[in-house]
This record gives sequence, structure tokens and C-alpha cells, in this order.
Amino acid sequence: MPENSKLTMDKLVSLCQRRGFIFPSSDIYGGLSGCWDYGPLGIELKRNVMEAWWRTIVQQRDDVVGIDTSILMNPKVWEASGHIVNFRDPLVECKNCHLRWKADDLKENKCPSCGGELTEERMFNTMFKTHAGPIEEDAAVVYLRPETAQGMFVNFQNVVNTTRKRLPFGIAQQGPAFRNEITTGNFIFRSREFELMEFEYFVKPGTQDQWFEYWVNERFNWYLKLGVKKDHLKLHRKKKEDLAHYAIAGADIEYDFPWGWGELEGIASRGAYDLTQHANASGKSMEYFDDETKEHYVPYVVEPSLGAGRAILTFLCDAFDEEPDKDETRVVFHFHPDIAPIKVAVLPLSKKENLAKYARDVFDALRPCFTTQYDDTQSIGRRYRRQDELGTPYCVTVDFESLEDNMATIRERDSMNQIRVPVAALKNTLLAKLAGEDIMVLPEGGKVVEKKQG
Ligand code: ATP
Repeated sequence: MPENSKLTMDKLVSLCQRRGFIFPSSDIYGGLSGCWDYGPLGIELKRNVMEAWWRTIVQQRDDVVGIDTSILMNPKVWEASGHIVNFRDPLVECKNCHLRWKADDLKENKCPSCGGELTEERMFNTMFKTHAGPIEEDAAVVYLRPETAQGMFVNFQNVVNTTRKRLPFGIAQQGPAFRNEITTGNFIFRSREFELMEFEYFVKPGTQDQWFEYWVNERFNWYLKLGVKKDHLKLHRKKKEDLAHYAIAGADIEYDFPWGWGELEGIASRGAYDLTQHANASGKSMEYFDDETKEHYVPYVVEPSLGAGRAILTFLCDAFDEEPDKDETRVVFHFHPDIAPIKVAVLPLSKKENLAKYARDVFDALRPCFTTQYDDTQSIGRRYRRQDELGTPYCVTVDFESLEDNMATIRERDSMNQIRVPVAALKNTLLAKLAGEDIMVLPEGGKVVEKKQG
């Protein structure tokens, strides 16, 4: 990976564990392959990533609405969608060490672990199966959804009828998905349980290519707006022969992870395949009435699909840095403020009672506005470093002078610059800075004093 060559997965995994971002699932029992738990910081990061996506795709658009469908669905859904027949990976097993591998992932026809000979490929359905109700019989089989998309297709008419949306419009959904991956790995990149963020953008047949390009662009730019470096991202357009038979076009947004380029998000132009399959299998019409042309037709769909874990891993890798700092190294996550798990830390210079009370009041005034942490342990320098390691964009320091002049110091993570502002202006100044405006919001008569960097 370019300038982050210092970042290895081992380093990232251990930092994530040490600081409470991400732990192996059921860790005290040795973990469970492909499953991860988000700790106190990780959950904030994950919520921020998912909310940033929701804000962009749903909240700020007239033409996309959200939905939240159940994980378990009528198994006929998966027959109609083709998952029962086609959601399969080629599995091979090492004849020597018996490890199993996904044949697609192998560069050579031998076991990557011991070099042993591999069995013939056999197809393995990666949907998790379970039973609904107390009797484990075939009639009770249900699947844990491997994607959220089908919940949106089967609700197409419900959404059209209740929202009166006209084409083009989209339905968006976030939520857990499960895939019984043959091999898991690369931390949260490939897990067996993960959260998806997907939307189906329905368009008039004939306009799909322009919408496909539009969404490829929008999605690529989303990462740039959230601070991901442009040369760490690339677009991989799929060749016709690599597409599913019904697909019109497909592209992956790839990120330069520490082990190399990997798929971050997939965008697919799927034609009328999904709605038509459900119309045929359910006997219910999936047609749309176009009031402008007075035609009935089944819309085409463009689908951008992103795993929250891969987005989180991208933001972690891209924001990570180790900078020389006097004799030491400053470890810092340069998260975009929208993504940063903690926005502001309030740090009283000392634990003395009168100062602690003052700092607590400052903290209480800020915490309703953004995720704020109070930290009064160790030296101020160490506390700044700890917040850098969590990626906190701003620290507010309250000292004994504050008791006299009602001013506090704001210290910025990336530049480490410090400014002193009136306590009464803290909230609005921080809100403006977190929103990307480099201004100071002062009450009338307020003044700002620049302080030396530290
Ligand atoms: P891959 O080729 O990496 O298995 P895919 O092509 O099967 O991925 P899609 O079915 O297109 O992936 O899934 C859409 C998105 O879901 C992916 O771009 C990725 O962000 C995410 N995703 C897929 N599988 C996993 C997984 N096992 N763990 C975490 N995220 C996943």
C-alpha cells in the first residue's frame, strides 16, 4: 500500500483490539471464525459509517426511501432469486492437511497451507440454513439472508403504492447478512456475519446505462468526500464474460488494503431480472404504470452494494498513520469528523476540585451535541496522544486560567494547533469545525488568542 506501507494487518488488528474497536467474537472461548464484535469505540465508528451512508443515500435525496425487512424470509424468495441453485462457491479440500479452500481464490492448484494435493471442486451453497418452529423437518427450512436486496424487491409494490414514488427512484436498506464463506480472513474483510448497506435504484428500461454511470460516480465520490485518498481507490469494470447471464454491467470499487487491492463495493446493472423472477414465481405483478407514457413495464434496476465491515476497514486503513514525534512515534487515525468515533475530548489540566467541577460543566454542555469523552488521567501530553490514537478531531483543555477568564483551549488533531476561545463559544465553534467550516463562532465582544503548538 502506498505511503501507509507501515500498516500491516497484524498491527491494525492489535491496535483495534487494544483500544476497543473490534474484538474476536466469543474471544474467551477461542473465537469463532468469521465473526467479530465491535467494542465501545468500534460501535461508534460503525454507527457513524452506517449513518453517513444513510444520510447520503436516503436523508439527503428526494428519490430514495428506506425500508427494513426481516432476516428470515419465505424460502420461495430464495428459489425465485436463484440463490438456492446459484449462490454457490467451488470448494476444494487438501488431501494432506484437510483444510478447505474456495477454488476461485487459489493461484495454484495446491494447498496454500502445506502445498498438498487438492480434491476435485465441488459446489457448496453458502447460505446458512436453519429451521423455523420446533420441528426440524424439510418443510420448516428457512435461510439466513445472504443479502438484503431480496427484501427490497419483494416489497417493490408496497413501496410504490404507499409512497407514490415515480421512476427513477430507489429503495435502501441496511442490516445483517450471513454467508457461510468457505474461507474467512483478512480481519473484518470477509466474515460470515456482516452488515450490508444496499439500495435498488429502479429506472425506466433504456435509461439503465446512464444511471449505472451516475451511481458508479456517486459511490466513488462518497469515499473521497469522507477523506479516503484517491490513489488508494480504483474502479474495476467487469468484463461481459464475468457477469451473471442477466446482468447488463457491473463494476467494483476497489481499495488498496494492506494485502493488496480488494473489492470494497459492487455496483450492478441487473435489468428486470429480479422483479421478473418474483413476478413469475409469486404470480403477483411487478409492473409499474408510467403515467407519462401510459405504458406498463417492469423497471430495470441498478444496485450498489457495500458491506459495513469493508467500509470500516477502509476508513481504518486509510486514516491510520504513524508520525515521528520528538523521540517517539505519534499513532493517529486521521478520521473524517463524520466518521470519528469520538468528536471531542474534554481534558482538565488537573484533578483539583474547583477545576474538575468547571471541566465537568464544560463536558455536560458539549455532550448533548456530539460524542464527547472526559479524561482526567495522566499528563496532558499523554492524553492528547491517546485521543490521537482514537482519532478524536478536537480536544478541549480547561486550565486554571479558565477559572479566571472563562476561556478554554481547542487543540486540533491533525495540525496539533491550539486556539483559545471563550467557553461560551465552544459548542458552536466545535460544531462549525466538525462540519468542516474553519471559522470561530464568538459571542459578541469575544476574542481569540492564538497559542503556540504543543
Ligand atoms: P467477494 O467476491 O469478495 O466474495 P461478492 O462479489 O460475493 O464479494 P457481493 O455479493 O457483490 O460480493 O456483495 C456485495 C458487498 O458485500 C461486497 O462488495 C462487500 O462489500 C460485501 N461483502 C460480501 N461478502 C462479504 C463478507 N463475507 N464479509 C464482509 N463483507 C462482504
